Amino acid sequence: MNSFNQVKISRSALLHNYRICQQAAGGAAIMPLVKADGYGHGMIDCARVFAGQGAAAFGVAEAREGVELRAAGITQPILVLVGVIPDTLRSIVEAGLTPVVTDAAVLPELSRVAGMYETEVGLHIKLDAGMGRQGVLPAEFVRTVQRVRQLPYLRIDGVMAHFPMSDDRRSQNSALVLDTFLKTTRALADYGLDGCCLHLANSGGLFYVAGSRLDMVRSGIALYGYYPDGADGRKNAAPPLLQPAMRFVTRVIQVRTLEAGHGLGYCHQFTTTRLSRIAVLPVGYEDGYLRILSNRARVLIHGQRAPVVGRISMNLTLVDVTDLDQAVQPGEEVVLLGRQGDEEISADEIADWMGTISYEVLCLFGNLNARTMVE
Ligand SMILES: *Cc1c(COP(=O)(O)O)cnc(C)c1O
Repeated sequence: MNSFNQVKISRSALLHNYRICQQAAGGAAIMPLVKADGYGHGMIDCARVFAGQGAAAFGVAEAREGVELRAAGITQPILVLVGVIPDTLRSIVEAGLTPVVTDAAVLPELSRVAGMYETEVGLHIKLDAGMGRQGVLPAEFVRTVQRVRQLPYLRIDGVMAHFPMSDDRRSQNSALVLDTFLKTTRALADYGLDGCCLHLANSGGLFYVAGSRLDMVRSGIALYGYYPDGADGRKNAAPPLLQPAMRFVTRVIQVRTLEAGHGLGYCHQFTTTRLSRIAVLPVGYEDGYLRILSNRARVLIHGQRAPVVGRISMNLTLVDVTDLDQAVQPGEEVVLLGRQGDEEISADEIADWMGTISYEVLCLFGNLNARTMVE
């Protein structure tokens, strides 16, 4: 039996966004990031859609996700970005995943495990060119390259780094990171490795940092239809614009008529000031519709905006539908995220209400609810 709350992912929006990324990438290959279950859009479904468009590789956080993608028939290289440590090496080698090495200390064990399987493992080295989170420091880079080359069964297929603030078009930081990355990786030529895959750009790099596309770009949020700098990014972008791929819908289960002065829900965070029509929705913080949205969010009914009133509880949310043109009926569709008629509520707008970014909204809604892909 289906939940009242449904996340719907538009395949045509994913395809449209892929094409926009491809155009922006020029000749560079595209590696879609499908971690966090495809930012809430479904890792396997999204990987299949992007693979069909020629994606060169995929990025996941943990080895476990890569193993799942392999089991689903994804044949492209799958880069494991997080947790390439002795515990995960056997799974990585067995599934033919591409380890992203952030610390040379893991190399001897990786070589040993690859030897056990009698297979040469192609790895990518992650350089800390300014992100300050993980990765080999520039001063350690050459030593790390040498270490790989001393060990059997290992091959360097790529070198990457990550931008800390490429979503900020005015920041000087990205040019510095790009410069550090290019200068440091120049040493690869001394080892006959100048042909290996260099990649640095995320969605922000792709759109905003000139010269950062290199051999491959790692697109995440843009593929799902959002700009890394949120609503500002959308406002400043030249058409064709990215199309948000996710909708989150529920429906009205009851409509109540209440007199003025009626306190609503926990703590009576809202009290009616007039004769009111209040729609009851079967959605709450359990479904990722977080409590911080209480008395703050808007939803769409009949293609019109209606305010959430009172506290959002675990499974119930109230909406004031008094001002809608037509009387709301039980069973009618309510859009929490996405388009209905001519109106739209974006993840950027919801993120603004929540004090966060679209990424978090998409992960929350997408990963806590029943999800289907639609055309
Ligand atoms: C998640 C991730 C990306 C994608 O970033 P977006 O801003 O979503 O495009 C790129 N590179 C790395 C290393 C990541 O972890």
